[in-house]
Amino acid sequence: MSMYDVLRSRYTFACPARGETHVALSSFRRLVRLPGAAHPAVYRVEFACTCGEEHVGLVADDDLDWAPLGLAGGTFLNLMTSTFDAGADELAEVSAQRIKGGEWPWSFFCYPEERARPVFPSSFALLAPGGAAVGVAVRCPACSRVSVNLVSPEHLDLPFHNDPHVGVVEHVFDGEMLPALGDFRADLYSSAFDYRRLALE
Ligand SMILES: [Zn+2]
Ligand SMILES: [Zn+2]
Repeated sequence: MSMYDVLRSRYTFACPARGETHVALSSFRRLVRLPGAAHPAVYRVEFACTCGEEHVGLVADDDLDWAPLGLAGGTFLNLMTSTFDAGADELAEVSAQRIKGGEWPWSFFCYPEERARPVFPSSFALLAPGGAAVGVAVRCPACSRVSVNLVSPEHLDLPFHNDPHVGVVEHVFDGEMLPALGDFRADLYSSAFDYRRLALE
């Protein structure tokens, strides 16, 4: 059974207080890829639970990146080259068509490369909400450097819902030495950084 609920766009985790909890991607706070297993890769996720506490859960990359699209791991490989497998469900079909049509479920603005890039949730390293926005530190799949964007929660939680403009922090973060979540959040919403609003399209 998938740990992702496509109807509610929520990941399912264990909660010590409630037994089970359902959290959106924008409630994730820190993702760290665990050393070892590559297929699937496993991520340690710290998330803000609806009970008010933060907990830790483990997610395989399939669940993290593909389940929100209704796609099973590896489907993408066929996707770009051939027809989509018969028997795929409706969500998978729609996701496949949109990707083939050039839409990408998630994207961000890579500050060092000065361009928008497609991305998957497994490339998100730190997330810190502040007011209506969520600050997200993204490790670029193309250049491996870390950029921070300010986006709407929907930009994260709803695949193919991309903010037309995002806030881009004018600073390249050290991918090996990311700040602690508390420091990241404090810096982000103080005057420590300048940022520009840039178009993702
Ligand atoms: Zn909880
Ligand atoms: Zn990049």
